[in-house]
Amino acid sequence: MDIKKLVRNKILKLIPYKSARKIGGTGDVWLNANESPYNNFFFLKNNYFNRYPEPQSYLILKRYVNYLNNSKISSKNLLISRGSDEAIDLLIRAFCDPNKDKIMFFPPTYGMYHISSKIIGIKSIIITTFKNGNLNFKEIKKNIDYVKLIFLCRPNNPTGKILSKKNVLHLLKCINKRSLLIVDEAYIEFIFDKNLLKYLYLYPNLIILRTMSKAFSLAGLRCGFIIANSFIIKILLKIIAPYPLSSPVIDIVSQALLKKNIVFMRNKVLIINSNRIWLINFLKKFFFVKKIFNSSANYLLVCFYYSNFIFKYLWDNGIILRNQNKNYFLKNCIRISIGTKLECLKLIMKLKNLSYNLKIRYCCVK
Ligand SMILES: *Cc1c(COP(=O)(O)O)cnc(C)c1O
Repeated sequence: MDIKKLVRNKILKLIPYKSARKIGGTGDVWLNANESPYNNFFFLKNNYFNRYPEPQSYLILKRYVNYLNNSKISSKNLLISRGSDEAIDLLIRAFCDPNKDKIMFFPPTYGMYHISSKIIGIKSIIITTFKNGNLNFKEIKKNIDYVKLIFLCRPNNPTGKILSKKNVLHLLKCINKRSLLIVDEAYIEFIFDKNLLKYLYLYPNLIILRTMSKAFSLAGLRCGFIIANSFIIKILLKIIAPYPLSSPVIDIVSQALLKKNIVFMRNKVLIINSNRIWLINFLKKFFFVKKIFNSSANYLLVCFYYSNFIFKYLWDNGIILRNQNKNYFLKNCIRISIGTKLECLKLIMKLKNLSYNLKIRYCCVK
């Protein structure tokens, strides 16, 4: 029997998402998945597992509403998902009809919008940004027909750019309520006052994605949120799996959303942001660093001379980064997640060794 013949053709041809974990590597400095380098130590409060968990945890909803601190947002505006990756999948499945509807996104950006749409069989309209990361409104308008969902990553992964509020509002005007705009705020905690929560009330077609994976240091748990008007949430609740969140996830996420742990998170954000500035100041002294992109998140996109060589050298020396060389417009670029000060220092030391070994001029001597 030829089982291959039974597989959907699109899935046979699919090139799956290459997560940082799948790519692998060995070493002790992991700066490739934009995780937090800081763990916080939680203990399970409940350890009975014979019962199914709550489909949507009341406690998490209540505490996340408190965390959002916006008088117009209630638990009716929230859906808890298995990370934002599930949120992306749910939105496409709920709103797009294969063979008819399309999604749109703006590379270079996060890869899962495209991959989820391919898995479900939805066509993607790809409108690359300008070199400076701004949107090409002319092309967006021209291609908007049959686009149900638009994904905007803000701050953008992997460039670190945060599109101005003015531009987001202009985008909302351009699409004129014909499509839903999904703003992926996975990194918004790193740029405190720039979220778009207050526009949810004005624009019923605006949806915000959040995650516990980045600033909250809980990538291993798999938990995220969709914030939207209550009708959209009701629709999504129809299609989400019956028990998406396991009991330990509910237990620990609800602890992570206690006031004292939010303070812990905010302190870590401050430290990571200051590590980022510290790292930039070192990196820009290497003559093989061509460009460092402005970043509003816990990673830096850096354009190198000899980027593949440098990536491989660091990889072989146990410093694992994310190569962006194949991404749109990002030839010779490497994304570096911001680690602890020590991890950043180890990276700098290896780069110094490299420049010394190659007897290439290191421009740091002052
Ligand atoms: C990391 C990341 C996600 C995925 O988050 P999970 O909640 O861990 O699934 C979503 N969007 C962007 C832009 C990310 O960088």
